[in-house]
Amino acid sequence: MANDQYTFTDPAKLYAHITAEKQHQPEPGLDAKLDPKADLGEESYRGSGRLTGRKALITGGDSGIGAATAIAFAREGASVALSYLPEEEEDAQRIAGIVREAGATVLTLPGDLRDPSYCRDLVAQTVEGLGGLDILVNNGGKQMFNEDLTTLTDEQFDDTFKTNVYAMFWLSKAALPHLPAGSSIINTTSIQAYSPSDILVDYASTKATINAFTKALAQQLAPKGIRVNAVAPGPIWTPLQVSDGQPQDKIAEFGEDTPLGRMGQPAELAPAYVFLASAESSYVLGETLNVNGGMPTP
Ligand code: NAD
Ligand code: MG
Repeated sequence: MANDQYTFTDPAKLYAHITAEKQHQPEPGLDAKLDPKADLGEESYRGSGRLTGRKALITGGDSGIGAATAIAFAREGASVALSYLPEEEEDAQRIAGIVREAGATVLTLPGDLRDPSYCRDLVAQTVEGLGGLDILVNNGGKQMFNEDLTTLTDEQFDDTFKTNVYAMFWLSKAALPHLPAGSSIINTTSIQAYSPSDILVDYASTKATINAFTKALAQQLAPKGIRVNAVAPGPIWTPLQVSDGQPQDKIAEFGEDTPLGRMGQPAELAPAYVFLASAESSYVLGETLNVNGGMPTP
């Protein structure tokens, strides 16, 4: 088996064959249309029972980082509920199929994270369908570049905060009464939280907020035995980036300015989520695990 997460390999050369090309999709983009395809670990991720019997809800679980995480969780023995937008049914069904092939139960629960009642229903349906909930991955996100604050619409600013921040709050709040001691909440932040780009003012602001939310809530929930952590990806090849997450000129050189000199693949993120979800990280709380090709962070 080539390049699974246990294979000794040169990380600078790994994935050299997947090079970003200019392309555009309307928001939300689809993995099905991404060219070249991203690696979600479909052919490679090897589980070892680290999440046996666990019950996970993953937002944005249809594509990119969330989909790679869903595949890894299923192969580690967890049941999985996937949240995504209705337009992403094709991607969601493909991932659901891979999860089922791993022998895991999967729920597909489309809806809009900007809607608090959808967020509450999502938790209720997961608890009912999986028989409980002990891993919440807040990963769904909106990123749309904007070059001039005077043209950043109130609507976009609001949508970015609703999707990236409010949904995390609504879902965490709804999940809390159901989470037994030993549960994990894992939020997806970004290198943008520390090194904000001039063209991602709204997005970068939400990611800094997610870090603070994670560290504050981690302390509050520690006595209950619920751990809250975050993963901070660097430049990762996903549909988010080609559906106006970046200007077209930047796509072809995406990730080249990292110390490893390349963009990352969603498959390289999944082990970070597995670690933070599993009992292996029992003494890790309020942490942000950076998976970014070597860019320095505070
Ligand atoms: P992605 O497009 O595959 O995933 C984002 C998902 O968010 C979509 O699949 C969609 O299902 C969901 N989503 C967006 N708006 C929604 C809404 N209103 N309602 C319901 N779902 C909605 O891209 P990705 O890069 O895998 O993104 C996952 C997370 O990783 C995001 O939080 C993103 O900010 C973060 N991130 C990505 C990168 C990167 O370079 N790709 C870098 C840092 C952080
Ligand atoms: Mg998607």
